[in-house]
Amino acid sequence: MFVIISLMKRREFLLLGVSTPLLANDLFFASDVILSQKEWDTLVSLRNRLNLLKRYVGYANFNVISYSEALYYGRNYSSIGAFSSDELELMDKFFYENPSKYGFFGKKTCAEIDHIISEKDIYKIEHAGHFLFKGKPLADFERLQKDVGDTLVLTSGIRNVIKQMSLYVNKIYRTRGNITQASYSIAPPAYSYHTISDFDVGRKGWGYKNFTADFATTQEFIVMKNLNYIGMRYKKNNKDGVRFEPWHVEVI
Ligand SMILES: [Zn+2]
Repeated sequence: MFVIISLMKRREFLLLGVSTPLLANDLFFASDVILSQKEWDTLVSLRNRLNLLKRYVGYANFNVISYSEALYYGRNYSSIGAFSSDELELMDKFFYENPSKYGFFGKKTCAEIDHIISEKDIYKIEHAGHFLFKGKPLADFERLQKDVGDTLVLTSGIRNVIKQMSLYVNKIYRTRGNITQASYSIAPPAYSYHTISDFDVGRKGWGYKNFTADFATTQEFIVMKNLNYIGMRYKKNNKDGVRFEPWHVEVI
């Protein structure tokens, strides 16, 4: 059952604090932007192809491969199949359009859809299946583990455009085509700080709860909050129009 809220925008409603975001997920706002039927059909096939690509290149590599590499794998491996012109068009739209119409006001972090992440600039974190940029991000993470303890783990590191695209596409799929709702929890593919510096951390063994506001109640977070060499990118009621993300470390 849908409840339609007609007078207020999604993020304005959330700012009132009268409801949890979980309840807001069941609400449909009249101002929300929804995919057309044709775009929805394309989204379903694009999601499937990105999943086949991930299976082929592996979870860790999928984080860093470029757009042109993705197209290459699609063309050359029949288990993936070439990206269709509709799929390419939809990826272009998601990358290049201005997301302020969805209520997302974060800064653009990546100018080109075929952004390249060089192997020599990144470092793979053992067991995490994720990479961090050498320099301040990697140093911050290592220092964090020392200060907080080894119950602190890396839950998401570098994400190039294809990885962020796949998270965005999956989120829009789960919101049944509602881009306004999806962009509240996943940044559009040109707007993620994971592409240039930031990373997510969690408490060992906490699984999906690491990506909920509950993370702010952990001992790990309480220690982190007082460290001056890192920041919190998405605080409560931030101007970017992004949900509260206590797990997302801002590299400063
Ligand atoms: Zn993050």
